[in-house]
Amino acid sequence: MDIEDIQSALGGTQKGQSLHDLVRLLYPICRSITGEGVRQTLRHLQQHIPLEICEVASGTKVFDWTVPLEWTIRDAYIATTAGERVVDFQNSNLHVVSYSTPVNGRYKLADLAGHLYSLPDRPDWIPYRTSYYKENWGFCLTHRQLTELKDSEYEVCIDSTLSPGHLNYGEVFLPGEREEEVLISCHVCHPSLCNDNLSGIAVATYLAKAIGSVDRKYSYRFLFLPGTIGSITWLARNRERAHLIRHGIVLTGIGDSGDVTYKRSRQGNAYIDRAFVHVLKQRGTGHQVVDFSPYGYDERQYCSPGFNLPVGCFMRTTHGEYPEYHTSADNLEFVVPRVLQDSLNILLQAVYVLENDVVPLSLNPHCEPQLGKRGLYRAIAGQKEGAQREMALLWVLNLSDGEHSLLDIAERANVSFEVIHAAARALRECKLLEDVPIDSTTRREGDQL
Ligand SMILES: [Zn+2]
Repeated sequence: MDIEDIQSALGGTQKGQSLHDLVRLLYPICRSITGEGVRQTLRHLQQHIPLEICEVASGTKVFDWTVPLEWTIRDAYIATTAGERVVDFQNSNLHVVSYSTPVNGRYKLADLAGHLYSLPDRPDWIPYRTSYYKENWGFCLTHRQLTELKDSEYEVCIDSTLSPGHLNYGEVFLPGEREEEVLISCHVCHPSLCNDNLSGIAVATYLAKAIGSVDRKYSYRFLFLPGTIGSITWLARNRERAHLIRHGIVLTGIGDSGDVTYKRSRQGNAYIDRAFVHVLKQRGTGHQVVDFSPYGYDERQYCSPGFNLPVGCFMRTTHGEYPEYHTSADNLEFVVPRVLQDSLNILLQAVYVLENDVVPLSLNPHCEPQLGKRGLYRAIAGQKEGAQREMALLWVLNLSDGEHSLLDIAERANVSFEVIHAAARALRECKLLEDVPIDSTTRREGDQL
């Protein structure tokens, strides 16, 4: 897999607007952990990628959990007794607490208080609240709306159903030369929230499009799941094959204009961790790398001790650390086409490392080979870039002792993997190198080669 191949498979590198258009299209849909909104979202993705919509019946046991009843929401409002809607689900699907049980009746304002959620510090934003595993109902409204509720009684309606149905998730499997897999996972369970769920969905879709159209060493599995219960369900149904996942990444919140954050896997220094840290370091712009903690998104399940899969999490600003998080301000303006593109590029670069790493062995290990007579200096001399490539050739030759992979060399030389890979290719063409037949990406430090 060549990085140019995957980028040209995307039709050039400028896909930011297309990514944002996909976010815009999916934005109005009222998703939850089950229900028609998830299916509608997944059906739309089928227009882009070969996605299978899987379903698991309510009541199915999945490890310590049970697939919940399916939630259907048709309408919800708080209206004056004269019939004027003052809080209306038709204006924003965030207005109803997700998984609210049905309600229909006249309520005293005082009795409504425990069912109303607002953000006093952000009086024009609607918060996002859920009550999946505890039967309850409620409304989310702007603080301004809340302070305008002055009548003593209101008509309250939540036209919802909680009944046996299904949990759905989407799965795209792209077979490669090997049965070992790379997992890309994102959540599809939030209603009209852009950074939190739609940015990951859009980028994963375009990543699958790109990877699907080029030759692959690994097999790739893309999962579009409702958070927590979705990944638990998938792991319960695929327990026997989970060990095939050699590298994995959870995508979340990758459209805001904050710096990149990479959260390491529970293993701490898995190959995927090293590949991401390398790509981010070479990229040079602001980023942070944080250690694993058992809080966040579906990496919690993939990294639970019974699985302990090498799965990290890729995000921009960490969830909860931006005020727009889980509010109506996580909207179409909050996610930026250029940033969506940048997040896709970082993923493509990480995939490129996974796909192209090898352990090279020098065929001329006694003193340096003479590069000039092979045209290797001539081709690259005279520019700053050329000097970097020349150093890359020297590093690759020096560390091609069968003990170091190209990523090991790139890390030690502090040169991008792409440049090291290109140098190794040039040396291989001159018959100065050969590849040791070993999977460099599953090798652990200290392993016998
Ligand atoms: Zn969320």
